[in-house]
Parts: sequence; structure tokens; C-alpha cells
Amino acid sequence: MTRERILVVEDDAVIGSELLKALSASGYDSSLANTGEAGLADVHAHPPDLILLDLGLPDIEGVELCRRLRADLPQTVIVVLTARTEEFEVVVALDAGADDYLTKPFRLTELVARLRAHLRRRAAGPGDQIVTVGRLRLDLPARRVHIGGTEVLLRPKEFDLLAALVTRVGEVVTREQLMDEVWDENWFGPTKTLDVHVSTLRRKLGAYGHITTLRGRGYRYEREAAGEE
Ligand code: CA
Repeated sequence: MTRERILVVEDDAVIGSELLKALSASGYDSSLANTGEAGLADVHAHPPDLILLDLGLPDIEGVELCRRLRADLPQTVIVVLTARTEEFEVVVALDAGADDYLTKPFRLTELVARLRAHLRRRAAGPGDQIVTVGRLRLDLPARRVHIGGTEVLLRPKEFDLLAALVTRVGEVVTREQLMDEVWDENWFGPTKTLDVHVSTLRRKLGAYGHITTLRGRGYRYEREAAGEE
């Protein structure tokens, strides 16, 4: 089996070499780019499975770089690293296509566990599945959603959440399952972000946003419109 390839884009030499060491020790084929331009050149030469992207780079603004990487590599997992505690920057990076983020300082074991979960999810990827409920159509490999002929634009987490629900249409999916599958297997703390994403999906999907809330338990995507229980 070919080893999964991780590109680290990080200008801090100490952090960069620590990351490479930890990733190689965990069995990944990893390389380091210390500027945004070097990162772009590297991904064009060898497209990676995952990019660990420091948002504070000397040459290209991190969020802008994230957007460019996402445009070039729709299937690559992008995890951003930020030294700043500003939530706003993280939100903007997630909008620009990042799949996840870690705030410095972080524990290497936590980082590796997160990356492993992302890569496993990507590898286990649904292959060639198209899921439909009425006129709602999810193309899982392409990560696109259509209602009739109209595409619904979702952020990465919104898509993952919808996919987790729609692939089990008519069944209750617990909050824990959703947090594990969509966010991280090592999540902890408040899960309000889940409820926020569900309300966004309801709004964006309109008539197809029929996701029932089962208070304290989870959510269920209905075959047909239904109210709250
Ligand atoms: Ca930096």
C-alpha cells in the first residue's frame, strides 16, 4: 500500500521539523514547504492526500492560499494551523475550504489522531455513490448537492453532515455519531456547532431541509417533510 502523503506548509523551522518527525514516525510520507509559493509548487509536483497549512506565512496570506489550494485540489484534506486565537480567522479559513483547524500550541499526539481520522474518512470514501431523496441528489465523490437542476452550495462540514444524515434516511443518527463522523473522533465539549450546522442546512435546502430534531438524542432526515418531535 502506498503511504499517504502529507504536505506541511509552515515557515517556523522548529515547528516544521517537529511536525515532519512526528508524521514520519506515524508512517506518513511527509514533506515541508516553508513558504506559500513553495507549497503551491510542491502540490503541483506531487498532489498530497492532506495539507497541514500554517495560516501565518511570510509570502501569501494563509486564507488566500487555502482558497487556492482548495480550488486546485478538491479532494485533498486541508487542516489549518493558527497561532492566533481569533475565531474569525478560523471561520474565514473554513469558508475558504479548510476541513479542520488546530490552534497552536497543540499536542502532536492530538494532531496525528486528527489527521488519521481525516485520512481514514477520505480513504473509506463512498466511492461511486449517488444518493437521492425525491429531487434531492447528493453526489458523494464529487461532494455536490442538487435539488432538481439547481446546485445547492454547502461548506465542507455542511456537506459531510448532510451526507451522514441522508445516507441513513429515515433513521435516527445520534449527536455522538454525527460529532464523531463529521467533526472528529476525539471531539469534546459543547456540540452547539452541530445544531448551528443543522439550521443552516434547513435554510439552504428549503423544502428539502426536512431534518427532524430528536431532543437530546440526534437528528433524522425524513423521506418526506415532517415537523419536530
Ligand atoms: Ca507562521
